[in-house]
Amino acid sequence: MRVAVLSDVHGNAAALGPVLADIRSWGFDLLVSAGDVAAFGPQPEASLDMLEEAGALFVRGNNDRYLSTQGHQGSPGRDEADTAERAASLQWCRDRLGPARIASMSTWPVRLEINGVEIVHASPGDDEAGVWPEMTEEELCGYVSGVMVCGHTHLPFVKTLRCGIVANAGSVGWNLDGDTRASWAALQNGPGGWQAQIRRVPYDIQQALAQLRMHNPPWSAAVEHYISTATWRSPSGQGAYRRPSPASQRSGQ
Ligand SMILES: [Zn+2]
Repeated sequence: MRVAVLSDVHGNAAALGPVLADIRSWGFDLLVSAGDVAAFGPQPEASLDMLEEAGALFVRGNNDRYLSTQGHQGSPGRDEADTAERAASLQWCRDRLGPARIASMSTWPVRLEINGVEIVHASPGDDEAGVWPEMTEEELCGYVSGVMVCGHTHLPFVKTLRCGIVANAGSVGWNLDGDTRASWAALQNGPGGWQAQIRRVPYDIQQALAQLRMHNPPWSAAVEHYISTATWRSPSGQGAYRRPSPASQRSGQ
């Protein structure tokens, strides 16, 4: 069985097209979107429609929750103007999606389990507390027994552990590991059990930026930075992108 998991499209349809083409050429039995389909990017409705046409199953991400429940509380420690701009971008996105897509988004589950593969947005039981590459085997095995796939932090990786496999699919819309290519996670089970790998997909970044400038949603300067550099841009212009301290474990991506 072949399961393709992609995550964090964030309305970047220019990246999603080539990712879906790569997934189709790999050959999948199931396609799962692990959340944050629409928010912040220039083409939220096209992104959602492309996934529905491809037959994707959906897990709800934190930004899908903000969109479908009207709720978005600012993340601790974030710059107020930045938080207001993000909230305005979510409202822009709601208006673009319209009530029917928002209603379907509100029915998405927070987790799916497929033949022993658990798929969540950020981590099991929490759609904002991410799974980070620097987490130790001990920490990860607190979450996992078997195979767990997530997204949210925009940092793709696969770790094979004594307790199972953790795969972070990274992001279709923009990764934050310095590599501007999109990513997704390819899971295949055979006689030896499940195996996971990250696939990276180059796409036309200039096309994504042209869409962004044409539609010009609020917070698009940040999104332009992310798409074109794949590096973190802190609201204050300082600070590295890394795992937050446990007291403020909210990346909000
Ligand atoms: Zn997220």
